Amino acid sequence: MQTHLLSTDSEHYESSLQTASDLIKHGKIIAFPTETVYGLGASIWNEQQIKKIYQAKGRPSDNPIIAHIAKVEDVYSLAELVTDDSYKLMEIFFPGALTLVLKRKSVVPSIVSAGLDTIAVRMPNHEIALDLIQRSGSPLVAPSANTSGSPSPTTAQHVMNDLSGKISAILDGGDCGIGIESTVIDMTTSSPVILRPGSITAQMISDVLQKQVIHAGKTSSVTHSPGVKYRHYAPKARVVVLNEKERHLFRDSTQLILHPEPQNLSVETTSELEIRLLHQSTFYNELRRADALGYTTILIILPDKFEANNEGLYNRIKKSAEVNDTNP
Ligand code: AMP
Ligand code: MG
Repeated sequence: MQTHLLSTDSEHYESSLQTASDLIKHGKIIAFPTETVYGLGASIWNEQQIKKIYQAKGRPSDNPIIAHIAKVEDVYSLAELVTDDSYKLMEIFFPGALTLVLKRKSVVPSIVSAGLDTIAVRMPNHEIALDLIQRSGSPLVAPSANTSGSPSPTTAQHVMNDLSGKISAILDGGDCGIGIESTVIDMTTSSPVILRPGSITAQMISDVLQKQVIHAGKTSSVTHSPGVKYRHYAPKARVVVLNEKERHLFRDSTQLILHPEPQNLSVETTSELEIRLLHQSTFYNELRRADALGYTTILIILPDKFEANNEGLYNRIKKSAEVNDTNP
């Protein structure tokens, strides 16, 4: 299968969006930009099309997919028992990088949720994504448009590198602004639980709801979100994370150092060592670039308080450094 790269510059926008939505309506899967990362979309009502997403990505069948809507009202066609708290969050954060896990309506195919009785819903804050969903005539289910286990794609080229020949088209919308996946929050329990941290923080949510918000990973050993148990966001290179005080553990074999203020880092660069900026919007690009250059060791140095000020990015950094043999 040839994967078409569809430009969205002003000259091609109309025909590209038309082509992309026609492909979706004909049961094909296509990648599209959002403000977080690129998604790989299928109609929520087409089970065969959704199966193609799992196949193309090599996604484990027990890992559910987020439904993307273009209008807040669409949530009511997918979920039931939408509480006042959920409504408040939608009012403030939709469209945006927040995904709500709600009770799934039985009309929604269970393959979307990998058999769970819940459904994850988000309204992306991206003109092309919203336009595509609207033209396709139904909410689109869309996981990140990468091969399962590799870093999520933040450019059309990243998608092409992973999925060329496996999907029908990619809508090229340039770089994703946020650069990491959405915050996922479970609203089906009495206290909301953050299943995956992101750029919308626990504090921001707690300020809106005026109640405590729990982080799943920090409070219990139970994995609430099936996807969390898999190794994600990982390059082929070995990633080592140290704080400033552990810098002496710095090893000669390191080929790349990532740091939030590289200009202030007092490490001698050599022809074998690069020092580059650590930033949420370019983090996945750095991991993919390191792999393309054949680097085998990446060192990430974190200043004090980095975690508190960057909960989403910190989570992805730790995940990229994890070695998990159950990775599919
Ligand atoms: P991705 O679409 O690749 O960014 O991954 C979506 C994330 O949301 C994964 O970690 C999933 O496990 C999680 N997710 C999707 N739907 C649900 C759901 N119904 N309940 C809990 N977690 C979900
Ligand atoms: Mg993903």
